[in-house]
Amino acid sequence: MQIKELLLQSPSQQTVTVKGWVRTKRVSSSVAFIAMNDGSTIHNIQAVVSDGIVSEETLKLVTTGSCIAVTGILIPSQGQGQTVEVQVISIQVYGTADPEKYPLQPKKHSLEFLREIAHLRPRTNTFAAILRIRHALAFAIHQYFNDHGFFYLHTPIITGSDAEGAGEMFRVTTLPAINPPLTEEGKIDYKEDFFGKETNLTVSGQLEGELGAMALSKIYTFGPTFRAENSNTTRHLAEFWMVEPEMAFFELTDNMNLAEDFTKSLIRYALENCADDIAFLEKRLLEEEKMKKKEEQSEMTLSEKLRFVSENTFERLTYTEAIEILLQSKPHKQGKFNYPVEWGIDLQSEHERYLVEKHFKKPVILTHYPKEIKAFYMKLEDDGKTVRAMDVLFPGIGEIIGGSQREDDYEKLLQRTKDVGIEEDSIWWYLQTRQFGSAPHAGFGLGFERLVLFVTGMSNIRDVIPFPRTPKSAEF
Ligand code: ATP
Ligand code: MG
Ligand code: MG
Ligand code: MG
Repeated sequence: MQIKELLLQSPSQQTVTVKGWVRTKRVSSSVAFIAMNDGSTIHNIQAVVSDGIVSEETLKLVTTGSCIAVTGILIPSQGQGQTVEVQVISIQVYGTADPEKYPLQPKKHSLEFLREIAHLRPRTNTFAAILRIRHALAFAIHQYFNDHGFFYLHTPIITGSDAEGAGEMFRVTTLPAINPPLTEEGKIDYKEDFFGKETNLTVSGQLEGELGAMALSKIYTFGPTFRAENSNTTRHLAEFWMVEPEMAFFELTDNMNLAEDFTKSLIRYALENCADDIAFLEKRLLEEEKMKKKEEQSEMTLSEKLRFVSENTFERLTYTEAIEILLQSKPHKQGKFNYPVEWGIDLQSEHERYLVEKHFKKPVILTHYPKEIKAFYMKLEDDGKTVRAMDVLFPGIGEIIGGSQREDDYEKLLQRTKDVGIEEDSIWWYLQTRQFGSAPHAGFGLGFERLVLFVTGMSNIRDVIPFPRTPKSAEF
């Protein structure tokens, strides 16, 4: 039985076996206490070993990090917190962990240190909690879409389309790692691509997602996405997971309504289903907050923040209105923004976070961005200058969702592809959806790790994915 289930049992005379990793062992004169965890819950179960029950040699092998199976009787717990603990009859040691060498000790390790041991960090309470929340959110995403009539469409990871990601794509080749073909100058000959064609790892499943929406009406993709981001920020990974719903017969307002309802519902799911893990992370954050200067301390606890966002209406305004607010803002007037504000700029995270954290103090949906800073497929507004784009901005994060109503007029779309220099031939299949039975449609992309960042209250995106891929880390 998993520890999560065992902790819900009442004491009984029945024997149980618990398997897991030792967190701590305390030995007093006549009794030893072992705290064990199997990753199913943030709570440990305590095993009590009375004197003489287990040989001294075995007990010696039971150290922090070792893996053991304990058989015993569930008795009422003496300590606080848990209702039951295990009175040990026997212990089997599966795997020892030399205390001299095992890197995780029962103290608090820094997140930087844990990043260097990504192979072991899931064994810490903090990471196990994050991974369970990540799982719960992934599950809730599928459940939400299934409940709302969406179909899960698997879009390709290897794609021939490079319409969106100029400069950010990872090329796929079939070059053999050993003795690759060389050019006359002795350099690797990259001409030999995936079966003779130039292919890339996907930067977004959207274009293919639109094809699905043009047949099944409501689809979503949820898969890994790759961007050769050269920046070393706390919000960007080279490999991340994106959730992309695409809906026929949706206009911009429907798209905003869905984005808001969807994110709120995921946060509510986490609050209801991950209460213990959120409470654990909240406590951890409170300790960190205490170290900060008073003015930098957050006004709300993690669960208060999650509740607030899930219960209040997001602010909606246009890009142009947002620029007005930024131009009137203190940091602009005092020259404190690193990137000067003017109509036409792509908003930087400092601007987004000012709007969300200082001005509105709640999530914000910005719409109608200048067409020059958005992708070619977004629907042109009647003003000829802006597109029906929407970005959802979250406190502590900035952009969490980017989306739009798509251009459904063939002639206009063709003109936009020409304007931005995309060859018609390279996306003939995409253009055809506007030639044959075109439909108004809209969709968005939610960065899954950014959502996990928000829900866990963590501040570095490397800490919410099991194996972060960044320019510096791709060992395993
Ligand atoms: P940003 O402005 O933060 O670089 P973007 O505008 O380039 O994001 P989009 O192309 O709009 O990103 O992708 C949709 C969503 O995917 C973003 O809103 C964000 O949540 C997420 N996202 C984008 N790039 C990354 C990345 N490198 N790592 C993690 N998540 C990302
Ligand atoms: Mg980007
Ligand atoms: Mg952006
Ligand atoms: Mg975007």
